[in-house]
Amino acid sequence: MVQTQLEAAREGTITEAMARVADRENRDPEFVREQVADGQAVIPANTHHEALDPMIIGREFATKVNANIGNSETTSNLEEELEKLHTAVHYGADTVMDLGTGSDLDDIRETHIEHSPVPIGTVPLYEAVKQAGSPEDITTDLLLEIIEKQAEQGVDYMTIHAGILAEHLPLTDGRKTGIVSRGGSIMATWMEAHGEQNPLFQVYDELCRIFAAHDVTFSLGDSLRPGSLADACDEAQHAELDTLGELTRRAWAHDVQVMVEGPGHVPMDKVAETVERQQEVCDGAPFYVLGPLVTDIAPGYDHITSAIGAAMAAQAGAAMLCYVTPKEHLGLPDEDDVRDGLVAYRIAAHAGDVGSGRPGARDWDDALSEARYAFDWREQFRLALDPDRAREYHDQTLPEDNYKDARFCSMCGVEFCSMRIDQDARDRADGEMDRLESTTNLEASPAAAVNLPPVGTHDTGDRPSLEDDGREQVTETTGDD
Ligand code: SF4
Repeated sequence: MVQTQLEAAREGTITEAMARVADRENRDPEFVREQVADGQAVIPANTHHEALDPMIIGREFATKVNANIGNSETTSNLEEELEKLHTAVHYGADTVMDLGTGSDLDDIRETHIEHSPVPIGTVPLYEAVKQAGSPEDITTDLLLEIIEKQAEQGVDYMTIHAGILAEHLPLTDGRKTGIVSRGGSIMATWMEAHGEQNPLFQVYDELCRIFAAHDVTFSLGDSLRPGSLADACDEAQHAELDTLGELTRRAWAHDVQVMVEGPGHVPMDKVAETVERQQEVCDGAPFYVLGPLVTDIAPGYDHITSAIGAAMAAQAGAAMLCYVTPKEHLGLPDEDDVRDGLVAYRIAAHAGDVGSGRPGARDWDDALSEARYAFDWREQFRLALDPDRAREYHDQTLPEDNYKDARFCSMCGVEFCSMRIDQDARDRADGEMDRLESTTNLEASPAAAVNLPPVGTHDTGDRPSLEDDGREQVTETTGDD
């Protein structure tokens, strides 16, 4: 009989996963256990996911970042999908959601789980639509069958759109952008076609039993999240959130871990209140937000519009940020978009951790600032969130090796380099610059691993690769540090 992390924590047991998480977060194992026992944090760790290096999601821990990958009808193959997983982990994804809707879904999912050191999440509803042929033709039995299969395959967390109810649908009528969640639009279509209540809500206790049997974590989908600033924090969103609070408590009664998904598009003045309301309604269950975008005017740059909201949400208590790429609203992201999206979100997560005063979070900033003021370019590159990009930009104008010791760069030039001018003046005054030295020791920092360079929580030098099992080997696509 499987014991979930939540059940073990409630019994007072510190599991191997909790001990590992405590080590990675630089926290006391007993504190980790208490947070899991109280539902304030989750360790998504399906018992069948053998390659997993356990991690924790909770507002008391370093803010985490999720990256979405997956194929579509027009792309892709097993090798490409594994490359996407590698790229996501390389650039610092703490979890990866496989949102594939194309072919070979089982094979791709099993390969991801086999090779992924980070938790894998899915949205089983997508596979149900693919098998049924249309949202209206989904059956409750099909939903249960797919969810159980994915649980047996080792999926660590699943987005379940059980919170959108038939009585919520009229509340969306006056919206500017209707229902923008894929899962939400599918469930709304089904309920309207059948004139019945959401089947995922109807069989929720059965879902809890399946999740408990494999220790799958719920990620309760926000089907009615706003798709525009105009729809943010409306009655429909809040009505669904109330149901998500109820579903959170029902899952906990089954010893099943829960996190709750959130918006979406939210103006800056409502980001903190959105987080606070979820924390109150859902009794502190970890909040996993998509962005939110704080303005709707910048298609092509929504990794920026959303990273602003994500940083604010992280500071306010959101536990995990789902990245958004520059292609949001426009097309399927490619590898460069994944990189840009993840870097934007690692910045947001880190800025949130600094802003909320997480232990040691600012040590990385201090170490880089010291290297910058000392004109230690190589150390600056090494500490940079994206070392390749930092080095590449410096090389564009000053590629020669001697410029890596120069007391200026091409931005202000040798004559107007303010740091050099400042240092020379101080030196002339009292010889202060002779005493210039780094004082920040990252080795001794109390920060979580995710808050220290190199970016992310995993060394992808040992990146996932296809075994010699007749499948094609993945080729290198990104330069490891
Ligand atoms: S030249 Fe300007 S940007 Fe470059 S190091 Fe000096 S102060 Fe900084």
